[in-house]
Amino acid sequence: MAHEDDDLLFLNPQIQELITAGCPLDVVYLTSGDGGQPYNRSPYAKSRELGVIAAYAAMAGTGQHTVAQTITVDRHNIASFSLRERPEIRLSFFRLPDGLPTGKGSSTYRHQSLLKLFRGEISSITAVDSRGRYTEQSLIATINGLARRWKSERIRTLDFDNAFFGHAYTQGADHSDHGVTARYFRMAGFPLQLRGGIIAYRGYPMSLLPENLAPERAQVKQQIFETYLHTVRCLDPHCSAPHSITAPYRNWMHRQYSRPQQHSRPGTIISAMGTPERCLEVTNKLPGTVERAVRTARCNGGSPQLWHRSPAGQWQSRTAHGSCLTAASFPHVSPCDSNALDQRWRMAPGGQLVSGERCLIQDDPARRAPRLHLGPCLPVGPENSWLWRP
Ligand SMILES: [Zn+2]
Repeated sequence: MAHEDDDLLFLNPQIQELITAGCPLDVVYLTSGDGGQPYNRSPYAKSRELGVIAAYAAMAGTGQHTVAQTITVDRHNIASFSLRERPEIRLSFFRLPDGLPTGKGSSTYRHQSLLKLFRGEISSITAVDSRGRYTEQSLIATINGLARRWKSERIRTLDFDNAFFGHAYTQGADHSDHGVTARYFRMAGFPLQLRGGIIAYRGYPMSLLPENLAPERAQVKQQIFETYLHTVRCLDPHCSAPHSITAPYRNWMHRQYSRPQQHSRPGTIISAMGTPERCLEVTNKLPGTVERAVRTARCNGGSPQLWHRSPAGQWQSRTAHGSCLTAASFPHVSPCDSNALDQRWRMAPGGQLVSGERCLIQDDPARRAPRLHLGPCLPVGPENSWLWRP
């Protein structure tokens, strides 16, 4: 999760049902949810941690006593608490600064945010309790290390496909911390090829979708959230909405949506980035040549998105006859030539499309200046992984 309540708002009642079924749960919060309040001088962020602990105790039907532990992964220390009566339920807090909805960060924490880390605008981010400093690489490695240590079977996280960030009242926008946290969890879990997969749950914009929880499930969800609110004195740092569930929170109480899993389609090369699925397609001619550009676009079954794989490892376009996917300095299609090394591709077990030593990469739309290009094959992640079905 990004904040101490995202699970209660966007994944519940799923979590309640997992706890009732006796499943072990490791819940990880990347930010302290400080809302720009100073962690050491304001009770707000700490009360949110106590609030989610109270909510999990209520879901488990136990007391709120916890066993505190510091977990160390690659020299990074993470504060962790398990319920004394249900020790297989553990909550861990990275306490990175709240990036605020648009990702601009707060002046309290030098305008650091996960979104800026993701866009390469800052090279590292420091925890609000000064217990850790992370680069993007070390943050992903630490989450990966936790998942391996706990032998996680499945990751449930927020929406990693929405790239529009803003306030809850901005239609279609999700909080930047939600989107980037979900992306980091996905990148950390991707190489593990988890049996249960990685499931994304919609955040703020699920208000736009119909209510889909039966009244009794919505009621359970609301009761748990009220337990959290009871501990957190106010809904926001300015205490403009104490102890009550206001819109849009009320909308979220009646909803819970996970993103559909990706589906392969015959004859298409689908990027692991994004649902709805995005297919590799041939577009317009490059100026002054017979070569044509390629890009990914929403899959539509059209012939520019259809490919044939030759025994020699070439990808032949079905629309640009006699043209093949070519690596060169940038990906494009050019006349098929069985001797051309930059038209020979192999598919690695992680789904990477490899030409020579380089891989086809579709940047995440939330990156700065995202593009389709050739780049490193490691680490295996959604950006360099593709689905192909003949
Ligand atoms: Zn949140």
